[in-house]
Amino acid sequence: MELIALPAFEDNYFWLLHDGQEALVVDPGDAAPVTEALRRHGLRLTSILVTHHHGDHTGGVTELRGATGAQVFGPARERIPPPFTPLHGGDTVRALGITFRVIDVPGHTAGHIAYFADAVDGAPLLFCGDTLFSGGCGRIFEGTPAQMLASLDTLAALPADTRVGCAHEYTLSNLRFARAVEPGNTALAQYQQHCQALREAGTPTLPTTIGTERAINPFLRSRERAVTQAVRTHAALATDDDVAVFAALRQWKNEFR
Ligand code: ZN
Ligand code: FE
Repeated sequence: MELIALPAFEDNYFWLLHDGQEALVVDPGDAAPVTEALRRHGLRLTSILVTHHHGDHTGGVTELRGATGAQVFGPARERIPPPFTPLHGGDTVRALGITFRVIDVPGHTAGHIAYFADAVDGAPLLFCGDTLFSGGCGRIFEGTPAQMLASLDTLAALPADTRVGCAHEYTLSNLRFARAVEPGNTALAQYQQHCQALREAGTPTLPTTIGTERAINPFLRSRERAVTQAVRTHAALATDDDVAVFAALRQWKNEFR
């Protein structure tokens, strides 16, 4: 199996997974880069996995389905270009001989789902759309901070070696914020240098891993003492309630320049 991040638009990645013959793609917001990659590698597209309804994740679905006959999967609670197979948390999807388990991760959108496979070439694999980014998380557009925190808790509990295909290359700007929140985190400082070198070489910083994110991502670390304290100081917060701290952390990021 080969996992490829297809860059698109300003900073999206469409994840293409293939076995040399058949391929699946996640969140194709545009058909052109996918069509080009299928041609280059001589692949047949069999499945399209959609995490949520935003146009930068669904804009290429209809054209790709029409051109390839691929089966489209998406969240039951969201409007995805029909026809598609509607999925709920706990459902499974078979594609390329792999079983993906569907995880409900509301917050960025109300019906957002993620796709998790236990072992793809020996290591777990997660496609999480705009829920978890390296060093950050999605903006809360439709859900609540409590929902987003619960969704991130679910993802953080996956195995440490889970590879995470996030849908945007936001890593460096996320890490600038993360450093402001947690200046004493040496793993974070090292990871920032590593990612800067990758970007200077024109290489994606993704996939990341759950283990890495637990060590460096403030949105998975909001209960760590250093993070909680930084948020409380920044927001002049009188409580250390989990959800209140997480909401204030997300708000801080929204305003961070
Ligand atoms: Zn989105
Ligand atoms: Fe997006």
